[in-house]
Amino acid sequence: MTVYIDEEKIFRLIDERKPKGIVVNAPGGLIRQTRGIIDRIETTYGIPCFLLGDSCFGICDTVDDEVEKLEADMALHIGHNAVVQDIGKYTHLIDAIDDVKFESVIDRSVPLLKRYKRLGLATFSQHLHELKPAKERYEAAGFDVRLGRENNLLFQSQTFGCDFSTIYSMAKDVDALCYLGESEFHAVGVALSSGKPTYVLDPYLEEVRDMQQEAEIRRKRSILSVYKALDANVFGVITGLKEGQKMLPRTNWITKRLEMNGRKVVQLTMRDVTPDRLAPYRDIEAFVQTACPRISVDGFNFEKPVLSIPEADALVRLMEGREIGEYLQRPKWIELTVGLIPRLD
Ligand code: SF4
Repeated sequence: MTVYIDEEKIFRLIDERKPKGIVVNAPGGLIRQTRGIIDRIETTYGIPCFLLGDSCFGICDTVDDEVEKLEADMALHIGHNAVVQDIGKYTHLIDAIDDVKFESVIDRSVPLLKRYKRLGLATFSQHLHELKPAKERYEAAGFDVRLGRENNLLFQSQTFGCDFSTIYSMAKDVDALCYLGESEFHAVGVALSSGKPTYVLDPYLEEVRDMQQEAEIRRKRSILSVYKALDANVFGVITGLKEGQKMLPRTNWITKRLEMNGRKVVQLTMRDVTPDRLAPYRDIEAFVQTACPRISVDGFNFEKPVLSIPEADALVRLMEGREIGEYLQRPKWIELTVGLIPRLD
């Protein structure tokens, strides 16, 4: 079981564009392979390559700004495959593929899933190529199987941790969702956004795990945070500084709504939102952040409420005397700006 990075594309890009310097970033799990590729680039072309040591959690972590600061002219963003291939001024997305197989865990899941007739499949970047064989295997076992529709950012049935739009559109037509891959992080998001029973198919442990309980823990915690924030008078509204999360209009909208409802707002910006970074703001009673929604939905370490965009929407609804609603059940928890700015050259 190995993850393959599309090195051929990297060398093709370098041959075509002849960059004078390259900035590279990759998620933690792919750093070892990425370092090997950087060695080969430097040996073959003698071009300086900078591996960025900052967090790289998702496709939002593109690094055009760093390219300019480092006087380079190309960025390679590894491991977050998407429909768009080139983003912003300098960034090229480089696919990574995991060769692990799902036959065994699918067969293991069949008796458990027999209570459902219609299944939807979902997965993340590294297992996209396994969707079709998985669909055929479930169909051979007697299920009616659906895949989600591709859009301007995500391939068929692909999800990010904040974007479930491919699944959301088909969720009403299925009885349960199966998530190909070991990532509970992604599967919990799918369960919360779709409201459907969701199962992780972990090919490494050959385990099928029901995500209902994990999703319910986060849903209840999120509701509690929203109600706690309702009692707050002083808010910190945080604009995330990552390139794919430029949410200034949303920050302004939330700030205005809080102020209209009598709250004092301190506007903050930061790249990573962590308990340590928020600790100095003792007078602030609750935060809203328009960076990664998973900071809030999975953020068990914060002392005060730290609301994401959907949670802030729920707060505004309550302040205006409306029902809180199932606010996490929506296709996207953030409108990633990366999908909106593909480079066309
Ligand atoms: S904003 Fe979306 S893509 Fe970026 S780290 Fe969070 S979940 Fe992943």
